[in-house]
Amino acid sequence: MGNYKPQTLALHAGYDYKKSLKSRAVPIYATTSFVFDNVQDGADLFAAKKDGFIYSRIHNPTSVVLEERLSAYHKGSAGLAVASGVASNALLFLGLASSGRKIVASPHLYGSTASFLNHNLKRYGIKTVFVELNDEKALRNAIDKDTVLVFAESIGNPSGYILDIEKVAKITHEYNLPLIIDNTVTPPPILNPFDYGADIITYSLTKLIGGHGTHVGGIILEKGDFDWGTNEVFKDYINAPDPAADGVNYWEVFGKPFYKEGKSGVLVNKLRGDLLRGIGPTLSPFGAHEFLKGLETLPLRAVRQCENAAAVADFLAKHPKVSWIKYPGLKDNPHYELAKKYFSKTGAGAIFSFGLKGGYDSAVTFIDNLELWSHLANVLDARSLVIHPASTTHSQLRGEALRAAGVSEDLIRLSVGLEDAGDLITALEKALDKVK
Ligand SMILES: *Cc1c(COP(=O)(O)O)cnc(C)c1O
Repeated sequence: MGNYKPQTLALHAGYDYKKSLKSRAVPIYATTSFVFDNVQDGADLFAAKKDGFIYSRIHNPTSVVLEERLSAYHKGSAGLAVASGVASNALLFLGLASSGRKIVASPHLYGSTASFLNHNLKRYGIKTVFVELNDEKALRNAIDKDTVLVFAESIGNPSGYILDIEKVAKITHEYNLPLIIDNTVTPPPILNPFDYGADIITYSLTKLIGGHGTHVGGIILEKGDFDWGTNEVFKDYINAPDPAADGVNYWEVFGKPFYKEGKSGVLVNKLRGDLLRGIGPTLSPFGAHEFLKGLETLPLRAVRQCENAAAVADFLAKHPKVSWIKYPGLKDNPHYELAKKYFSKTGAGAIFSFGLKGGYDSAVTFIDNLELWSHLANVLDARSLVIHPASTTHSQLRGEALRAAGVSEDLIRLSVGLEDAGDLITALEKALDKVK
């Protein structure tokens, strides 16, 4: 798709209607399997000697359009669609790390991601060290010879911690390690982490990209210029003969010849060939179709939701019953300078948190009296949402761990939708009137 801009790519990349009975919309290929021309054709497909579809657990034409479209939209090299956002994170961790290896992660993570790193991966001998990644010394101290990756979210949810991606990427690359960014809350046009040095982006498609709260899904995107051949820690996964694939060394075949032009899809290829194949968290073609529809309007929705969030934050910041507000677009926020650096184009996302002077009890009264905003465990629906994380999304964490994740007991999180900003503010005002 040559030099087209992201808004255009969001509607056209990765699909040729002439190859699909001239269907203008991307068809849903509701099929598990694909017919071979003859025995040789089947053999060649299985040996990866030619491109083509075999079985929908591994790839499906509808999902492949989504993979290619989102990859082009981010100027990346390849994509792997999966069944959920946590599945995309889990495949990356399980692929790149193994027993005895180490992950360095920000403590400002989505609850289920933090819990998986903390508890599940530990059982397999994979250790995660949580450090404030913007702190150069802490980051350097955390990385050692067993470290395989550095992982963070663009804006921590719900702490509002903004990662200095450019700085963290530079340091991470000095150790020949990849920086993986969960960019769920800030997809382009809000932020493209590849522009600042991230090597891999992972998404929950469930949120802003799907946009309408209708389907759960995830995707891994690879930028394509990372050199997996230098660091010894990749010798057992990417840069070694793979016994499950006829002894193919993925790095030699899919990576090394292409990475200098930024066109290596080696990690996506490898994950498709082993963990997607072996674990099977596949995105259905119906889900892929939902996300393709969401992507068409993402550039418009993202901008409007950021604008609405700024208006709502402005209102709350001035309200006498609000004790604090963590919206990075406000001047007194500690992340204001980083927000200016990364989010001046659209605004600092559509999710933020605040607290009421009356603490926990006021938070409960407020949510129970709030109209229009839905009280539920999701973010970045087209409709506005509200939640109290201490009693829900982060309820597995207690005391210190809760504080380390940036959650206090009085914290209320808002996800601002596409409604009229005045209507949203009126609803907040009415609920605040009920609070003592
Ligand atoms: C929701 C979310 C996830 C998990 O995504 P699912 O699609 O629910 O599995 C991961 N990371 C972030 C930042 C999220 O907001």
